[in-house]
Amino acid sequence: MNMIAACGLDCAQCEAYKATQANDLLLLEGVAEKWSVEFSTPGLTADLIRCDGCMTPGLKMSHCAECKMRLCALERGLANCAACPDYACAELAGFLQAVPPAKANLDALRQA
Ligand code: SF4
Ligand code: SF4
Repeated sequence: MNMIAACGLDCAQCEAYKATQANDLLLLEGVAEKWSVEFSTPGLTADLIRCDGCMTPGLKMSHCAECKMRLCALERGLANCAACPDYACAELAGFLQAVPPAKANLDALRQA
């Protein structure tokens, strides 16, 4: 199943997604601890990072639940930003510049 997030991240490869689907609390705690440092967001916990994927129903990691790109794509009824007539708006462009793999995923979808 295609699990490309609104922003282009591949949810199927996301550590929080994989740990949530495995219902592995120790792994979730480890990812939360790692991301707290990596993304300078102290205080992340296993519960805050449980996630069933960006555009699929279910739990959302705290940050992704509030992501402007996700909310915008949902409001527009899109599978993700690749399907947007306003691709790549300022909000998305800034993110894609910082995260080249997400750009590659969205570009591949747009060429498909
Ligand atoms: S929406 Fe969830 S699965 Fe997708 S990148 Fe964000 S935390 Fe990972
Ligand atoms: S305007 Fe389009 S490309 Fe920009 S965030 Fe919204 S859905 Fe994504």
